[in-house]
Amino acid sequence: MGDLAKVITAEHGKVHSDALGEIQRGMEVVEFATSAPQLLKGEFTENVGTAVDSWSMRQPLGVVAGITPFNFPAMVPMWMFPVALACGNCFILKPSERDPSAALLIAEWLKEAGLPDGVFNVVQGDKEAVDAILANPDIQAVSFVGSTPIARYIYTTATANGKRCQALGGAKNHMIVMPDADMDQAADALMGAAYGSAGERCMAISVAVPVGDETADRLIEKLKPRIAALKVGPGNDPEADMGPVVTAAARDKILGYIDSGVEEGADLVIDGRDLNLQGYENGYFVGATLFDRVTTDMKIYKEEIFGPVLSVARASSYDEAAQWINDHEFGNGTAIFTRDGDAARAFAHKIQVGMVGINVPIPVPMAFHSFGGWKASLFGDHHMHGPEGMRFYTRLKTITSRWPKGIRSGAEFSMPTMK
Ligand code: NAD
Repeated sequence: MGDLAKVITAEHGKVHSDALGEIQRGMEVVEFATSAPQLLKGEFTENVGTAVDSWSMRQPLGVVAGITPFNFPAMVPMWMFPVALACGNCFILKPSERDPSAALLIAEWLKEAGLPDGVFNVVQGDKEAVDAILANPDIQAVSFVGSTPIARYIYTTATANGKRCQALGGAKNHMIVMPDADMDQAADALMGAAYGSAGERCMAISVAVPVGDETADRLIEKLKPRIAALKVGPGNDPEADMGPVVTAAARDKILGYIDSGVEEGADLVIDGRDLNLQGYENGYFVGATLFDRVTTDMKIYKEEIFGPVLSVARASSYDEAAQWINDHEFGNGTAIFTRDGDAARAFAHKIQVGMVGINVPIPVPMAFHSFGGWKASLFGDHHMHGPEGMRFYTRLKTITSRWPKGIRSGAEFSMPTMK
């Protein structure tokens, strides 16, 4: 795990402990996939008609492909291939061109472990490689994780070409903070969820929604010293809480969003634009940034920034906060911090989002549940890993058999019934 984490830190920039964490989450899917015999067990009904038995079984699709983003170069592929392989498929992985080495290490280790050649394959490249996958008639299914415009393109093209497809897209995750929440707990949770991995997580919280001005003021007062104490540094610095963002282009895009928030009138409480790390002047660092009084018409509210920028949008009531979440284009993850069971229960039932946390800021499902968002955060019918993953990578066949002893003589032209 250490070697893989080092490669991830070197290419992606996330801190070493964070890289180890994503590998651990990926390994949990490997463990889950070892339960395939139990999960693939079919159904059997004896004597559905005289001497007639019926059973169903799940069979592999054949060759399937996974196209993955830069932000989790080990974990996201591991959401896919352990389940696909355990279900009996061959897998082609097309990792992000921005951090392609983790995929190769994994391939090497699978070979070392005895996996036959051709069962797990890595194809490097960008759009050209993706389009070759989408056009190839031998590939039966495509799993994708990345930004929403590309997810939409992958889903539309793959399904038009007759493939099964699950395409997970971008996010804008809100965390409601109710007036009765433990404010220290909420602030600590927001720090990790907003700034961990420099905000380059699809489950990062990018909008905090305190209910009431008093809650907002208390929350911001708790956040300010925590942000001041946050240590930014290269990913291999064991003291660093947050590393650089992935590329110069990503940094410039994030800085552009901060400029736009200022221009649109949001209150910039902490400005991460001028961070200059001695000895790392050419690094793509962006400091933790905090906006207050962000409104729902602003670009920094509507679009995914994918960087260490937290917006505080003040809501006047729980209903208003929940409405904002339901009206948002994305529906990947969300959270509520409260001590009120009624509010928490209503939130879980009514919110239009795929993964919901109650006093849990990053509610990433365990490997034996399934991961996926709603709305523009997921195109397709199946979430990833867990039981949904097993269903995605298999198709159901149902057999009805009658042995000669029970066969009646003469042709029958009416609908088969239990008679
Ligand atoms: P991206 O969409 O730029 O790239 C994802 C993959 O698509 C890469 O393999 C890339 O090579 C390929 N690709 C890029 N442009 C393409 C094009 N024009 N045609 C065909 N293929 C193309 O995403 P990214 O920047 O690598 O990752 C960040 C994004 O991924 C964020 O939006 C984040 O929210 C999202 N993400 C979502 C989840 C989730 O579970 N919903 C998880 C992780 C990341």
